[in-house]
Amino acid sequence: MIHTETIAAIATGMNTAGIGIIRISGDDSFSVAAKVFRTSAKKPVQNLESHKVYYGYIYDEDTMIDEVLLIPMKAPRSFTREDTVEIDCHGGILLMNRILEVVLKNGARAADPGEFTKRAFLNGRIDLSEAEAVMDLISSKNEYAMHNSLRQLTGSLRKELDVCKDQILYEIARIESALDDPEHYDLTGYALELKGKLNVLIDRLNALIDSYHDGQIISEGIKTAILGKPNVGKSSFLNMLLGKERAIVTEIAGTTRDSLIEQIRINGISLHIIDTAGIHDTNDPVESIGVERSKKIADEADLILMVIDASVALDASDLSVFDLIKDKKALILLNKTDLTQVVHEDDIRKHTGQPVLQISAKEGLGMEAFKDYIQKEFVNGFLTYNDEQFITNERQFQLLTDSVNSLREVINSIDNQMSEDFFTIDLTNAYDDLCLITGERVEEDVINEIFAKFCTGK
Ligand code: GDP
Repeated sequence: MIHTETIAAIATGMNTAGIGIIRISGDDSFSVAAKVFRTSAKKPVQNLESHKVYYGYIYDEDTMIDEVLLIPMKAPRSFTREDTVEIDCHGGILLMNRILEVVLKNGARAADPGEFTKRAFLNGRIDLSEAEAVMDLISSKNEYAMHNSLRQLTGSLRKELDVCKDQILYEIARIESALDDPEHYDLTGYALELKGKLNVLIDRLNALIDSYHDGQIISEGIKTAILGKPNVGKSSFLNMLLGKERAIVTEIAGTTRDSLIEQIRINGISLHIIDTAGIHDTNDPVESIGVERSKKIADEADLILMVIDASVALDASDLSVFDLIKDKKALILLNKTDLTQVVHEDDIRKHTGQPVLQISAKEGLGMEAFKDYIQKEFVNGFLTYNDEQFITNERQFQLLTDSVNSLREVINSIDNQMSEDFFTIDLTNAYDDLCLITGERVEEDVINEIFAKFCTGK
């Protein structure tokens, strides 16, 4: 058996919680632990039984560092499937670092980010989609994202893919058997039958592909752009949402030039707010960069909040924003309703069918109605704790798309009455792409890339 390097890291967050965990994994875990841990009975750790909790002390040579609980786990009954020891110590960044330092001094090396999860994958404890779910779970920003990662972690995506893979494999085997042994296997009428089956399969995979957008909203939040001409109260509205003076509010039209990005949580879902510079016709070069950027952001946004000043008549700038949001998901916020109202809902209706909310950013009016809107449109709309499987990850999205394209190629070959051996090439490609999602045939560099993302948090 190949000797695995022993790695160690602080497994809990770098904060001042009451308890922290140092995890050691690899062939020498038990001997490394033995060098640093002493029970009150002074027993060496190798004689300790797996999956029992031991009480004792961490020592750096003769200096006692902390009072701890030690949990030895013999391979393969651990997360990494390697010999693992967890040291349950007191929290505190300094203390945890000190214990880790002692562990490293005694034969372990510092684990790379995501390395425990990588080993769990390499040792067959979890598949790649599950490993990605572990990493997503750790970095999930809200409860919906967490719920989805947990589902994926239980192998729900793998099970769905396994069904599809089995079907493809069955068809490949059937064609190859017939080509090898034409006397016993007859392919008359088979092409049409296969086409029908492939269409069902494509629908199934497309359902996963279509979930990518919702999955992204789950994991990344609703990408929200606040648009409107200068001085209508965009920054003030953002402040109202944030409940603090974050954006610079100014009386001079067009001074909020830089886009700000904020995360706001409403009823468990994140709003990823991008505050844009005002959109209006301008000759000012700096302002026009802002305008271009606003247009780009509007195109990328899941939701546009258009702010209008109710105290002054609509003008050409407002109309150009209406134009920009024409086919988008948008909510019109009729602001400054605390002042004498010149613009009313009816005036807006003449230009757009989008929903309108009356607010006053200055007086803090309309917040509840706004939260209700988000809840109704996004949370109740599709983000429910149901059985739906969401794809949240670009890599999985790309592979599913490639797989469907290969299946479409098979249908193309059928329509063009090509011979059956053409089918198997594309069927095999479709099959391989699905295998790559769960990591069955992934090259080492791809694996490294996936786990390296963990350190950048992407
Ligand atoms: P932006 O350029 O669209 O970001 O607009 P600001 O948020 O900077 O607001 C411009 C001006 O309008 C500031 O003087 C705000 O105090 C004022 N303002 C914003 N919202 C309201 C509101 O609801 N009522 C009143 N009366 N004034 C507001």
